[in-house]
Amino acid sequence: MSTPKMPRMGEGLAAGPSGDTILLRKPKLATNRARKREIPEGLWTKCPGCATMLYDKELDDHLKVCRHCGHHFPISARERINALVETCSFEEMDATMTSVDALQFTGVSPYPDKLAAYQKATGLKDAVITGIGRIGPVRTALGVMDFGFLGGSMGAVVGEKLARLIEAATDRGLLLVIISTSGGARMYEGMFSLMQMAKTSAALAYHARQRLPYISVLTHPTTAGVMASFASLGDLIMAEPGAMVGFAGPRVIKDTTQAELPPGFQTAEFLQEHGLVDAIVPRKQLKERLITYGGYVLAGQASRRDGP
Ligand SMILES: [Zn+2]
Repeated sequence: MSTPKMPRMGEGLAAGPSGDTILLRKPKLATNRARKREIPEGLWTKCPGCATMLYDKELDDHLKVCRHCGHHFPISARERINALVETCSFEEMDATMTSVDALQFTGVSPYPDKLAAYQKATGLKDAVITGIGRIGPVRTALGVMDFGFLGGSMGAVVGEKLARLIEAATDRGLLLVIISTSGGARMYEGMFSLMQMAKTSAALAYHARQRLPYISVLTHPTTAGVMASFASLGDLIMAEPGAMVGFAGPRVIKDTTQAELPPGFQTAEFLQEHGLVDAIVPRKQLKERLITYGGYVLAGQASRRDGP
């Protein structure tokens, strides 16, 4: 790589009307710096829904939802868990489980380097947090994915942690809730990644055989291997407003089928109209709805167990 050519003194410079030296050609770096001065980073975020500038602190207070137009911004797994479970009631499972580079994958950068970088950036060990906690009065086995960790991709750790969570829910007779967001299988783990689809689905089949409830919550985006396994297997499937949900992205489908796609294709709302999603639930109402629905399904389960 060659170093960019810097303007020498006098080159690209001229005297302004007041005698000040002005730049005829602005170096790129200087432009970026000027913009940063106008909008301090980490203080304001522009809403992609309504273009309003939102104060970050206020956005955090509203669970990362724009209070003007209701646009749902990405939210980390930890923030979600904090918003859902009762204080100090969450016992995390398999918190230290980390991926190994079984395939010795080398691409743009080696897999261990990628993992280390994302672990440092997110404070997570992998793309899901699992554990058991109380949501209102309902003891719940809760799994929450984080898109910030390698696009919420499912490798062996995500699959194993979720399978263990599902098995714990089955053993203890608990309501299971998984909040998904994922770009799909983790390419760095190849076939090991694809095997997680079968493993999580099989664990869910045992959970269902015990007539125990599972609520799946789809958030933006939930796609590919995750959508094609545990995310679409909920007894109840809820989705956040505007979430993109599907197997392949709309552009890929359009290119493959050469067909014009219907408006709103692969949005949560479209899938509710077509029967895959049971309810669209804004983030702020999720806790309340989980308590209500959890109460219904557990009551149903109790009556079946005690019934004739
Ligand atoms: Zn907005």
